[in-house]
Amino acid sequence: MGSQRSVQSSKSKGKQSRNSMADSLTSVRSQSMGSPMPNFLKAKLKVIFVYPLEKKYECPSCDEVLRYPVLFEECGHRVCSHCFESEIKRADNRRCPVDRGKIDVDSARIDKAFNQEIIALEVKCSNHEWGCKWEGEYQQILEHLENCEYGDILCVNDCGAKFQKRFLQKHLDKDCPKKIIACSYCDERHLREDKKEHIQECSKIPLPCPNKCDKTLSIPRDELDKHIEENCPKTKINCDYESIGCDHRCSREKLPKHYKSDIINHVKLIYEIAMQNKQRLDKHDENLAEHVNMIKDVDRRVGDLEKIAHNAMIWRIECYNRKMQESKAGNTETLFSPTFTTSKHGYRLCASVCLNGDGKGKGSHISIFVSILKGAYDGLLKWPFDYRVTFFLLDQNDDPNERKHVRFSIKPNPCPENEPFLGRPRLEKNASFGGAKFVRHEDVETRKYIKDDTIFIKVVVDCDGMSEP
Ligand SMILES: [Zn+2]
Ligand SMILES: [Zn+2]
Ligand SMILES: [Zn+2]
Ligand SMILES: [Zn+2]
Ligand SMILES: [Zn+2]
Ligand SMILES: [Zn+2]
Ligand SMILES: [Zn+2]
Repeated sequence: MGSQRSVQSSKSKGKQSRNSMADSLTSVRSQSMGSPMPNFLKAKLKVIFVYPLEKKYECPSCDEVLRYPVLFEECGHRVCSHCFESEIKRADNRRCPVDRGKIDVDSARIDKAFNQEIIALEVKCSNHEWGCKWEGEYQQILEHLENCEYGDILCVNDCGAKFQKRFLQKHLDKDCPKKIIACSYCDERHLREDKKEHIQECSKIPLPCPNKCDKTLSIPRDELDKHIEENCPKTKINCDYESIGCDHRCSREKLPKHYKSDIINHVKLIYEIAMQNKQRLDKHDENLAEHVNMIKDVDRRVGDLEKIAHNAMIWRIECYNRKMQESKAGNTETLFSPTFTTSKHGYRLCASVCLNGDGKGKGSHISIFVSILKGAYDGLLKWPFDYRVTFFLLDQNDDPNERKHVRFSIKPNPCPENEPFLGRPRLEKNASFGGAKFVRHEDVETRKYIKDDTIFIKVVVDCDGMSEP
């Protein structure tokens, strides 16, 4: 509405004075309906005028400044809008408070021009007595009060405190219990009023050591346990030799003294432990030796059992060419077969081979021998040994019908001279007997005696199970 009016007045400048007069005398009735009274007039402010208020600006009804004056047509006197509405209009007998003349309320008007004079009067800030130095026009007072640093406000954090606006920052910085602040130790945020509570549990707050190890020392709460556990010189701890029997307990700082003074005791304890350990170790060694023997024994028996197959043992000799070369070079004299038995409880035997020959076969033949070994059941067997032993060099032709094995057989003669060969073994092993000219070197190369660089030698003892006791 205000802007509309200003546009109108600039368009029709010539009629301005008459129009503003007409504007200023607006009907009270329409005013009370539209209620255009400015807020600063409606507010029941304490107004302090810079100069003493002239009598003409005072309301004859309430003796205060005329707020939005209503002019009576009849006598030209004025009262405030408020007094007009609340007293004159409501009275049965409506009269002017100055001269008691009768009033026609319908002709009473707001005196806008007079109002303009009043609202332009110089006033002081309502907070003048509290120190505000502001002075300005009456109509500016509300605007000023909104920003006046000397007016009372309630704390923006709703803590309930009331103070002059200018003290707000100080209140927030120093006092407000509802202000969120950060803990200077742990950075956690909390209300100022919860500070005490937070300090009780803050994990970073520095505390003195409860053992009072160093009065100048303060340690964050969450590191205190570690200090006591690992570093504090006043913490009581056990001697390092506790586990071997020393029950001394003293503060960490005094322990070195204990180690010095009790060195003899500690050495004694160590010695006892060492002796106990040695006894245990010796016992273990004994057990171990026993076990090794047991294993050897079992191993020999299992070894023998594995080789039994119809009085025959087949011996696989791998890497034939290399072994032959080594034999010719004189590096390896004899190859020994695994041990075998003639039956489950029979003679224990071992075959041997000289690839480059032995005796009459040396350099031209493979020689083959067998010897009788000491066995578990020798006491039950027949001596001297006189069963036929037959050696084969097996032909590995793919077609079994085409195979032609090399065969050499020997029937031992149990005469007294042959006792070292055929008698019950006194040592681990008897002297061996067999064929020095088992097979000629060039014959070995024929047929399929060598296949995959491997030859097979079969030993058959012709005792037909009769060796079994
Ligand atoms: Zn009044
Ligand atoms: Zn009057
Ligand atoms: Zn002020
Ligand atoms: Zn506050
Ligand atoms: Zn904290
Ligand atoms: Zn400490
Ligand atoms: Zn100790």
